[in-house]
Formats: sequence, C-alpha cells, structure tokens
Amino acid sequence: MHSCHEHTVCIEDALQTAHRICEERGLRFTDLRRRVLELVWENHGSAKAYDLLERLGEDYSAKPPTVYRALEFLQENGLVHKINSLNAYVGCSHPLQHQDCYFLICSKCQEIKECCTSQVANVVKNLTEESSFVPSRTTLEIEGICQDCRSNQKYNINKS
Ligand SMILES: [Zn+2]
Ligand SMILES: [Zn+2]
Ligand SMILES: [Zn+2]
Repeated sequence: MHSCHEHTVCIEDALQTAHRICEERGLRFTDLRRRVLELVWENHGSAKAYDLLERLGEDYSAKPPTVYRALEFLQENGLVHKINSLNAYVGCSHPLQHQDCYFLICSKCQEIKECCTSQVANVVKNLTEESSFVPSRTTLEIEGICQDCRSNQKYNINKS
C-alpha cells in the first residue's frame, strides 16, 4: 500500500525520531526499546506482541512482560499505535504530530496506512459534546482493499 522506495530509510527515520523524542523528554531509549521499535517497523504491516517476543528471543532472553513494557513505552510516547481490531502494533510515521488518527487496513497486503484529519476529530468532538461525554481515546480502524491491491486485482482479471 505504501510502496516506499527504500524501507531501510523508513526504519532509519523512525529510529532517529524515536531517539530524538526520548532525548527531548529525558527518557532512556534502551537497546530493548530500540530493538522492539525496529521489529515493529520491519514492514508497513502490524506486529503482534508474541511475534516480537519470538524474534527477540535469540538476542535477548526477553520475557513477555519485558516486551509489553517496551511496547507500552513506545505507545505512550507516540512511537507506535495499537491496532485494536488486530491486537497488534504499527509504527507511527509522524510521532506526536497529531491528536487523532485513523487507520486504513488492507486485508490483502496487510499494510496499514495512518491518516489524520481534523475533520474526523471535529465530528467526534461534536458528537461526544452533544452527549456530554468526555472521550479519552478515539479509535477508528477501517478494513478494506488498498489501491495497489485493487489495481493488481484488475490486472489479474484482465489477464485471464
Ligand atoms: Zn517503508
Ligand atoms: Zn501516528
Ligand atoms: Zn493492499
């Protein structure tokens, strides 16, 4: 879906941004946190905690709570998002630059695109205000087929 040219650049960017954010906030970007973020960023899809645990197993004798704590840390600092419908994590490409975001999840290539728009945020604000409801978190996850996968589909139909 994202079809980035050089995914190593995405990973490098994400790690650098994370390093900067931790420094600014006076937090420690430990080896484990760095490694977990790197693994989450392995592609533009999502990663489940137990897969991360398995991948870490070789280098670190990581136990589940350690990985969950690292993920929690990354989530708290806007570096990863949790995709609730998949119970998995995805790296944030522009940490701390937005309040609300929504996710387009391709069920064919499994890639996740993060979108943010104040329009959605405004609608949610109005809706919740009408009910005198104070929202703490808004989650919007949209499943479907991305443009790339759709054009591949068309191509395959034309071929046969
Ligand atoms: Zn990429
Ligand atoms: Zn984000
Ligand atoms: Zn796709």
